[in-house]
Amino acid sequence: MIDFKKSIVQPIQSASLDARGIELFVKRDDLLHPDISGNKWRKLRFNVIQCFKNHNAGILTFGGAYSNHLLATAAACAEVGLKSIGIVRGDEHTFESNAILKRCTSYGMELQFVSRELYQLRNDRYYQENLLIQNSNYYVVPEGGANYLGMIGCQELVSQIEQPFDVIVSAQGTSTTSCGLALGLDDSQRLMVVPVLKGYDSIGEMQSLMSRSAMAEDAIDFALSSVLVSDEYHFGGYGKYTWELLEFIRSFHNRYRIKLDPIYTGKAMYALQKEIDSGAMDGKRIVFLHTGGVQGAQSIIEKSGFDLFGG
Ligand SMILES: *Cc1c(COP(=O)(O)O)cnc(C)c1O
Repeated sequence: MIDFKKSIVQPIQSASLDARGIELFVKRDDLLHPDISGNKWRKLRFNVIQCFKNHNAGILTFGGAYSNHLLATAAACAEVGLKSIGIVRGDEHTFESNAILKRCTSYGMELQFVSRELYQLRNDRYYQENLLIQNSNYYVVPEGGANYLGMIGCQELVSQIEQPFDVIVSAQGTSTTSCGLALGLDDSQRLMVVPVLKGYDSIGEMQSLMSRSAMAEDAIDFALSSVLVSDEYHFGGYGKYTWELLEFIRSFHNRYRIKLDPIYTGKAMYALQKEIDSGAMDGKRIVFLHTGGVQGAQSIIEKSGFDLFGG
C-alpha cells in the first residue's frame, strides 16, 4: 500500500555546509502519503499487520482534536480495509469541529468524544478493557502509536537508508520514533533528538517506553548512549512558535523547496541549523528525518496569517 521507495534521501547543498565539511541529507518520509504523516505510518505498519494476524475488525486509538496520528490511523485503516475508532480528547468537539476530524470521518473512522478527565485514563488497562467491551474485536493502539510495534517500525527506517551517515536528526513528541531510530543505529552513529514540548525529559521518556516494551536494562542503556538531546528549540511548547521560526521555515522552503511544519520538523531543522552554526557538526554526514506533518499543521499555519510557502 505505501511504497517506501517514495521516501528519497535528498542532498542539501550550501556553501556554508561545504565550508564546515558537512554533508546533509533529508530523508523524505513526508513524501510517503498525503494524509499519513511519514512517521505515523512507520509506527502503524506493524500494528496493522498485528491487527490482521489477530483477525481484529479494526484499530481503536486515541488522540487530540488535531492529531496527525488519528488522521494517519483513519487513512491507513481505510486503505487496508480495516475499521477504525478514534477516541478524541474533549467532549465539546464534533466530527465537524475541524478539517482533521472531518477528514478522519470521511475515511470512515468512528469518532467518540470524551471529556478531558476521561481521556486521562487512555492508558489505563481497566478503561481500555471497558472500551473493548463496547467496541468488541478492536485492536488498541496507544496515543501517538507509542508501543513496541510502533518503535520497531521506526527501527526499520534506519535499515532503509543506504547513504552512510554519522548523525540522524529527528523531532520528538512521544519519542516512539526516536526510540526506534536509536535501536537501528550502529556503534559509531548518533541520534540527535529535538523535543517539541517544553520541559520534556527526552532520555527519561525514551527509557520508559523501552522498558514498557520489556527491553533489558543494559540494552536500553546501550541504545540511549548514542542519543544527543537538543532541547532548547521548543519555542515555548507544543504548537507554539515565533515569527523567527516561521521566517526560518519560509526561507528554507524558498531555498530548497522542502516544506517544514511549525510544530515538529521546523523546530528540528532550526535546532540542527543552530548546532551546525555552533561548529558541533563539523565534518559530519547528517541525515535529517522529515517526519511529515505539514498537512496536520495547516490550520496553525493559516491562523498565523504568515504566507509560509507562497513565495
Ligand atoms: C507525531 C510526529 C512526530 C513525533 O513523533 P514521536 O514518535 O511521537 O516522537 C514528529 N514529526 C511529525 C511530523 C509528527 O506528526
